[in-house]
Amino acid sequence: MSAPVRVRFAPSPTGSLHVGGARTALYNWLLARRHGGAFILRIEDTDAERNKPELTRQILDAMTWLGLSWDEGPFLQSDRAPLYREVADRLLNEGKAYRAFETPEELEAQKLAAEAAGAAFRYSGKGRDIPREESDRRAAAGEKFVLRLRMPDEPIVVDDVVQGRTEFPAGALDDFVLVRSDGHPLYHFCVCVDDVDMRITHVVRGVDHLANTPKHVALFRALGAEPPVFAHLGMILGADGKKLSKRHGAAGAEEFRAQGILPEALFNFLALLGWSPGDDKERMTKEEMIALFSLERLGPSPSRFDHEKLSWLNGQYLADTPNERLLELLGEFPLPGVGNEVLLSAIALHKSRAKTLVELASGLALYGADPSTFEEAAERKLGGPEAAARLLAIAQDFEALPEFSHASLEAAARAYAEKAGIGLGKIAQPIRLAVTGSAASPPLFEVMELLGKETSLRRIRAFADRQPKPE
Ligand code: GLU
Repeated sequence: MSAPVRVRFAPSPTGSLHVGGARTALYNWLLARRHGGAFILRIEDTDAERNKPELTRQILDAMTWLGLSWDEGPFLQSDRAPLYREVADRLLNEGKAYRAFETPEELEAQKLAAEAAGAAFRYSGKGRDIPREESDRRAAAGEKFVLRLRMPDEPIVVDDVVQGRTEFPAGALDDFVLVRSDGHPLYHFCVCVDDVDMRITHVVRGVDHLANTPKHVALFRALGAEPPVFAHLGMILGADGKKLSKRHGAAGAEEFRAQGILPEALFNFLALLGWSPGDDKERMTKEEMIALFSLERLGPSPSRFDHEKLSWLNGQYLADTPNERLLELLGEFPLPGVGNEVLLSAIALHKSRAKTLVELASGLALYGADPSTFEEAAERKLGGPEAAARLLAIAQDFEALPEFSHASLEAAARAYAEKAGIGLGKIAQPIRLAVTGSAASPPLFEVMELLGKETSLRRIRAFADRQPKPE
């Protein structure tokens, strides 16, 4: 590639960052990083009726959370009206665009006539033939007009790296509107003016924009610029093969964040949704992805979003993420009021058992408060007068230990089980339930060491107390 790679992510703030948008941003980011280029962030907010300015902040936050750092911007199209006006004037002066004076009523009548004839509406091109002096005179006299692009009288070829080559015959598209009669520049016009102004070399975006691309090619040419390389990404579908939506569960980056998905895991998952780096690797670091990324290996067909696979991958990431980083990420979730040292040790014990940060956080709750409820079926099985007597006895043994370490706790429990002629589980399981409220937990004696002597013994005795007394 000769010119330095310059790519952009151009969300419209009409919604938060959907996984489709996040994946588009991610591929642009990877391409820029792969080639040492620039990743530009542009907010396409010219449609004042549909935009919600507060969504811009949310989109930026979600990108930051995902690690998609931009090099330039965010540029707001709403700040760039003077540029669009200047370029519109230039196209008019160069004869590449022209004023069209049809009133909305006239256009509406033409649309109805086309409909009645069973044809698609196309602008007649009438404004093309109005001499420039006449056009200037009518405009100066206050007659309303729109600015339309003079489409070329030759075929337009869209050569897409991902979707392949499509040729649109001359005359397939009509002269579309660039600027409305109130002076408001329209979407396709702003996109191309900005892409040229920002010297964008590659346009990577969703396949839903492919149909607009011939218009963009014509506009780039009119603007005197070579069109960028286009890469249109296949759609993202839900497990049922329909377009991914809320019905399929979370679909926005923020929702995954709230569910306790790690940004690193979502990044990895989205990267492989339509890109095959060449082997069957499921987990890759960002560095590996950057080193291998190429547009040529993006697939044209739709990809299925598999929530279960994301959850599996997230569990893998959780288990391998350093405790300090997890503590930082857990800051968004309710944590027990204990010191960071205890939290870090608890994270180490619990992280391989959780699928999400939410699960991890709820697992850590036992370090903050004594269990107030106990798994019912487990208590039926593991409680009772005999168990209570054993628990009180072993609490005595634990109490007498010179140090409250997991090794000495385990040795004491083994010795007790042997003396009583029972298996270790027979005494360890009731202790586990007493101490954690649950019949499943990380290694019991390590949990107890972390909880400390006072708390552990208090819990064992409290659980023994709630058991029915012998008849
Ligand atoms: N603003 C468009 C969108 O939100 C993106 C257009 C483009 O990437 O060219 O889908």
